[in-house]
Amino acid sequence: MKTKIIKIDTDNFVADDLNEAADILRNGGLVAFPTETVYGLGANAMDNEASKKIYKAKGRPSDNPLIVHIAHMEDMEVLVEEVPEMAYRLAEVFWPGPLTIILKKKESVPNETTGGLNTVAIRLPANRIARELISLSGVYVAAPSANISGKPSPTRAEHVINDLMGRIDMILDGGKATLGLESTIVDLSEGQPMILRPGCITQEMLENVIGPIEYDPAIVGKAPNRDIKPKAPGMKYRHYAPEGSLTIYSGEIHDVINAINSAAKQMCENGNRVGIISTEETKNYYHYGLVKTIGSRKDEASIAAGLYAILRDFDELHMEYIYTESFAENYFGQAIMNRLLKAAGYQLIQV
Ligand code: AMP
Ligand code: MG
Repeated sequence: MKTKIIKIDTDNFVADDLNEAADILRNGGLVAFPTETVYGLGANAMDNEASKKIYKAKGRPSDNPLIVHIAHMEDMEVLVEEVPEMAYRLAEVFWPGPLTIILKKKESVPNETTGGLNTVAIRLPANRIARELISLSGVYVAAPSANISGKPSPTRAEHVINDLMGRIDMILDGGKATLGLESTIVDLSEGQPMILRPGCITQEMLENVIGPIEYDPAIVGKAPNRDIKPKAPGMKYRHYAPEGSLTIYSGEIHDVINAINSAAKQMCENGNRVGIISTEETKNYYHYGLVKTIGSRKDEASIAAGLYAILRDFDELHMEYIYTESFAENYFGQAIMNRLLKAAGYQLIQV
């Protein structure tokens, strides 16, 4: 398949620039497009054959459900049995934006889109290209991250090109995804609201709007607990992983730097290719391997935005061992550590 790439300037485009992409979606094809979280791989969510194409292009297990993207809040009512009061309140505060809400689906939403579940995940993205595209296409757009299943999510069009060139109809290049981490997922399908995936909209922000909200037990704690059955099958899969072996070092920062330096020294002396994920504040303290800076500790958003790109950069350089500092679990930190731990296969060394 030939994949067409179109550059779109987020700050300066007209709806007509998206006509061809909207046509593809309407006709059951696949279009990758930027969102404020990561790039999404879109297809008509109400067309089961189109949804199946997403799974095939990504190599995604068929029981891992897709998020349905909408352009108008009222569209929620077409997709779900009943919209609870709490869903309206969250949507009013956080949409458009990086929040996904799970509700009981209507019969008309295909099982292919929801991975066989009787619930559907819905989001109204903030990125203007994404919203215009959905609106113009006139369909609801199922869109998981636009990467090969298991790899770090794409935050730039180049990442999508690397993974999906020749496998999809079109890639809209709209520059960098500003946030860089997937949406916060909140399940409202069973009364008691639950966070299924942490993201840039934090527990505290949600509680300010709807009161107490718990984390799903399947995401609490370091490694997945085999006795707990995850709500969404997707939570059980290997995710965000670089090709090299990634290890997180946690503890007092000077001890972390020393431990990473000594591990890196040994691996380099053994002839391995070593990458180090540092911060603006610590980059000058590492003496072995290739040192890259993820962002600044003074600006957590920069670390969130840089995470997947740095993992992909190290893949391109075929690094065999990657060492990273850990990050405080406040505000965005919870989401950053959730992704980092999954990417590392839960290899964390406490120093
Ligand atoms: P991605 O868009 O690649 O980040 O993947 C979407 C993720 O959303 C899935 O892996 C699930 O964890 C979650 N999800 C989507 N739909 C549902 C649903 N109906 N119930 C629970 N989780 C869901
Ligand atoms: Mg994904």
